Amino acid sequence: MQKIAIIGAGLAGALLSDRLTDAGLDVTLFEKSRGTGGRLASARLGEFSADLGAPAIDAQGQVFRSWLALQQQKGILDAWQPRTVGFNGEVRESDWKWIGKGRNSSLTRALIGSAKLETEKRIGVVWPDREGVMLRDDEGGVLGHFDAVICTAPAPQSVRLLEAVPRFAHIAEESITDPSWVYLASLERLPGKLEGVDVVESGHLRIARISVESNKPGREGCVIKVEMDRDWSEANIDLSKEQVQERIRCLLERWLQEQLSVITERTHRWLYNCSYQPVQEYLSLWDVDTRIGACGDWIGPAGLEGSFLSAQDLADQLLKS
Ligand SMILES: Cc1cc2nc3c(=O)[nH]c(=O)nc-3n(C[C@H](O)[C@H](O)[C@H](O)COP(=O)(O)OP(=O)(O)OC[C@H]3O[C@@H](n4cnc5c(N)ncnc54)[C@H](O)[C@@H]3O)c2cc1C
Repeated sequence: MQKIAIIGAGLAGALLSDRLTDAGLDVTLFEKSRGTGGRLASARLGEFSADLGAPAIDAQGQVFRSWLALQQQKGILDAWQPRTVGFNGEVRESDWKWIGKGRNSSLTRALIGSAKLETEKRIGVVWPDREGVMLRDDEGGVLGHFDAVICTAPAPQSVRLLEAVPRFAHIAEESITDPSWVYLASLERLPGKLEGVDVVESGHLRIARISVESNKPGREGCVIKVEMDRDWSEANIDLSKEQVQERIRCLLERWLQEQLSVITERTHRWLYNCSYQPVQEYLSLWDVDTRIGACGDWIGPAGLEGSFLSAQDLADQLLKS
């Protein structure tokens, strides 16, 4: 049976694993973090859980929309139509979106199913030799040889991993990546301006979006999430979590015109929130000679839908070959 290694257990890696496992291939996922989800990860916040990455999944195209509806039928996702307003209070149009049951990372968990998953395993080297494609962890330990290795890490982290195929490393290098600071707080009560609202976006020069996480179907507590915009995040990228937490809370309280009743709070720095290609030429990358490939949101269209399309495209190519 063909042995395939996938680097990264975000949406692209999990979906690819699902497709290849279904086709009877022997798949092992290597993930540097403790859990799955990547930029769709969830985290504990006191006694509740909250989505640290993308708050919800939306679809522009019919293929992704149908696939999401299928995951909803299987009981993995819930549908959500957030009541959305601008920062000036104007009601905005909002489409149906999807969220993971209980937490967004339940989607990647379900897709990975019973495939082999090695967490807290950061890959350092991907190199083809006579026995196949060799993987080493970041301490130099050999993890084995595989018939093919697919990298789904964000673009800046993929550059080094794709060194054996210089044109792929170059595409990763050319991708533009934005950072984002995210603030999560569990509150005693919801501030007045957020009552009856699920999402606030557009019209603030620093804050990109506020989501009332606990308003999502099946979620508990009184939890909010604030995503800062690219320019603010970049300008504050080297500050400590504590300093950033203080600054975000101040900005938020100024807009809310009241103090937050914080029980627990945490801040997370996403160095690679969103990626874009200067020119979109491919959906995924596959080199038949070295048997090294890549998929993810930095190759074709951006965001979750881009990751989905990229992973589907690569799965089709691999299964054909
Ligand atoms: C706060 C936030 C809000 C967002 N909002 C939206 C939104 O509204 N709409 C939208 O479409 N998109 C949004 N996105 C972007 C979206 O989440 C990503 O485009 C998508 O999740 C990327 O999935 P992926 O599988 O391609 O990459 P990732 O989810 O990044 O998965 C890659 C995985 O590889 C792992 N990895 C990296 N290096 C190594 C290594 N050396 N060894 C082993 N593992 C490694 C990482 O830990 C990660 O788990 C948002 C992202 C963030 C952070």
